Amino acid sequence: MVIIYYKQVTSTMDIAHDYASKNFPHGTIILADIQTEGRGRLRRKWISPEGGLWFSIILYPSIYLKKKIDCLGILISVAVYKALDIFLKEKDILNFKWPNDLELNKKKVAGILLESIYENNEIKYIIAGVGINLFVEQSYFQKYDIDATSLKDLVLVEDKLIILKEIRNQILSHIADYPDNWDYVFQFYKSRFPYIGSNAVNRLNGKEVKIVDIDDNGSIILEEENKIKKYPWGGISLEIKRITY
Ligand code: ATP
Repeated sequence: MVIIYYKQVTSTMDIAHDYASKNFPHGTIILADIQTEGRGRLRRKWISPEGGLWFSIILYPSIYLKKKIDCLGILISVAVYKALDIFLKEKDILNFKWPNDLELNKKKVAGILLESIYENNEIKYIIAGVGINLFVEQSYFQKYDIDATSLKDLVLVEDKLIILKEIRNQILSHIADYPDNWDYVFQFYKSRFPYIGSNAVNRLNGKEVKIVDIDDNGSIILEEENKIKKYPWGGISLEIKRITY
């Protein structure tokens, strides 16, 4: 297993792209204690202070999975969930927020970012970034006015590397087992997605929407201005109106 460790980087995504362009193998991990320019989707800032688990993993998925990026996002989300569950004091307490977040008490504790590099119209490799507020102090989120939380008081082990290795194994086995595992993985994800029927705002166009369903390709189905619309992974950002629960 290759884990390349840095004390501080701009973003583990950037470093992982460098290594992938030098053909580092499937499963290579770039890990950092601090990211100064951690990013989320649409280049939004991902706060990455000391105490978090911030890493990127180089992936060369099968041709089959390359055409199903939404499914890849869900496979990785479920893999991260399952690995974390092993190390938390209380079991099965997290939920998913489509497409790329894990939440605790409906506050974000982890995010997943996928970046694909194309060559001759085909995906050459994918970098998956994973950010987990493992031991981050809650005060950081207040300081940056982010509605997020930390797993700090719930984690059973102190060694981040033990958790990282489990997450890596889960990610690689979830990817390797696709598509045979898909029905199970999809059901696992959907049964821990508490927002079906909720109202939200589509941040791309500011419109009010209702979350209708997630289809079994991992796309979200919304009701927007009395029309049913489907958006793929990364195609939309939703601000869920949590007051409706
Ligand atoms: P959202 O969760 O806001 O609907 P998103 O899932 O697309 O959107 P990302 O792009 O994945 O969000 O992540 C960036 C956003 O996450 C930031 O705009 C900020 O609100 C929030 N954020 C930044 N750092 C952290 C962190 N360490 N933990 C949790 N949330 C964070």
